[in-house]
Amino acid sequence: MSKDNKLLLKKDVVILGAGASGLMCAIEAGKRRRSVLILEHMNKTGKKIRISGGGRCNFTNTNLGPDNYLSANPHFCKSALARFTPYDFIGMVERHGIEYYEKEKGQLFCRGNSGNILRMLQKECQSAGVEIRLNCTIGGITKTDNFSISTDSCTIQADSLVIATGGLSYPELGATDMGVRIAKRFGLKVTQMKPSLVPLVFGSQELKMYGKLSGVSLDAAVGCKRNRVRGEILFTHRGLSGPAILQVSSYWDRGDEITIDLMPDRDAYGLFMLRRTSRIELSNLLSEYLPRRFSHKWCELHSPSKPICQHTEKELKHRAYLLHHWKIRPEATEGYKRAEITSGGIDTDELSSKTMETKKVPGLYFIGEVVDVAGQLGGYNLQWAWSSGFVAGQYA
Ligand SMILES: Cc1cc2nc3c(=O)[nH]c(=O)nc-3n(C[C@H](O)[C@H](O)[C@H](O)COP(=O)(O)OP(=O)(O)OC[C@H]3O[C@@H](n4cnc5c(N)ncnc54)[C@H](O)[C@@H]3O)c2cc1C
Repeated sequence: MSKDNKLLLKKDVVILGAGASGLMCAIEAGKRRRSVLILEHMNKTGKKIRISGGGRCNFTNTNLGPDNYLSANPHFCKSALARFTPYDFIGMVERHGIEYYEKEKGQLFCRGNSGNILRMLQKECQSAGVEIRLNCTIGGITKTDNFSISTDSCTIQADSLVIATGGLSYPELGATDMGVRIAKRFGLKVTQMKPSLVPLVFGSQELKMYGKLSGVSLDAAVGCKRNRVRGEILFTHRGLSGPAILQVSSYWDRGDEITIDLMPDRDAYGLFMLRRTSRIELSNLLSEYLPRRFSHKWCELHSPSKPICQHTEKELKHRAYLLHHWKIRPEATEGYKRAEITSGGIDTDELSSKTMETKKVPGLYFIGEVVDVAGQLGGYNLQWAWSSGFVAGQYA
């Protein structure tokens, strides 16, 4: 019994959070014959894994490099990603007989559902002797010689404490700010955090103009500051989403303008010139290249209804410019409720990139999304969770 009359347990390693990084770390530490206990406050493990990739879990990306990650220190992620690569994770997936396929650009998804990945991790945990406590409320954490973690049912003493509580997005799947609170409690710096890979919300004027286009998607190039992303954009009833917008949201800060090239592979002015003498309406001409609903709405807003032969060259030049440079200033993002990830987090200056251990507090580790390493869309975030969890599992 502990001082507060709770059951006192002793473990080599306690991991907070049974998500992607926590499970991976537990497997590796367990294989080293460390006694490992994961504490999870939800009723199930890996809720984000289950819904990831639209239920098929985009579990890694074979075209991975440090450039796919945003962090105040772009070099920090290199060591872990080199020591546990996408191919190491693929090896594990294949050993478990899980079928997968490449969707595009190196993105690997399960052929079945994401439950396959979760079951694989659970099986590996079981064979590594990992204990998992669900529905567990974590209270105070102190450190003297070792860590003392108090929960609603017991107090645990541990040599190593690994924080794998993830980012702040999707609170209904278990996200909390516990990792950040623990970091601050131990005097560690935390970088500015924000929702990322998240839809953008129109201001009221744009909403009036484009709100009715909800459901329309098109291929575009989206720019924000010095970054340009090519891919699909999707009109929603609140603003814009789709892969290109989600990706750009990681660079976007309140007040920033984004520029959208609606015909990135074509020269709109050249197309107009080819049909210069035609009686075709601009909206019908544009419908040959853009979704009909969009081109009609766009012409309603930007071009009076008349045959193309009645437009002056100056007018056509201006319309072409607008198609290649649609500028909007989103009002906000849809926030943590709809963000796939959180960017920012535990300052990487506080951590060893080799072990993920904090420099100031021996035995304390941070892994996964809680760290200031944010991946792009396409399997990079789970790979960061696997890689950072793997390396911490070799030392914790
Ligand atoms: C809708 C959606 C789809 C996604 N799809 C993909 C995808 O296809 N590919 C990809 O690479 N990435 C995807 N991601 C991102 C990816 O899921 C995360 O980056 C990854 O799960 C992070 O792993 P983690 O271990 O750091 O955190 P998580 O997997 O979020 O795990 C954190 C765990 O800690 C627990 N926890 C939190 N607070 C506490 C507390 N106070 N006490 C106890 N436990 C706590 C949580 O309940 C959770 O189980 C997706 C994210 C979302 C939201």
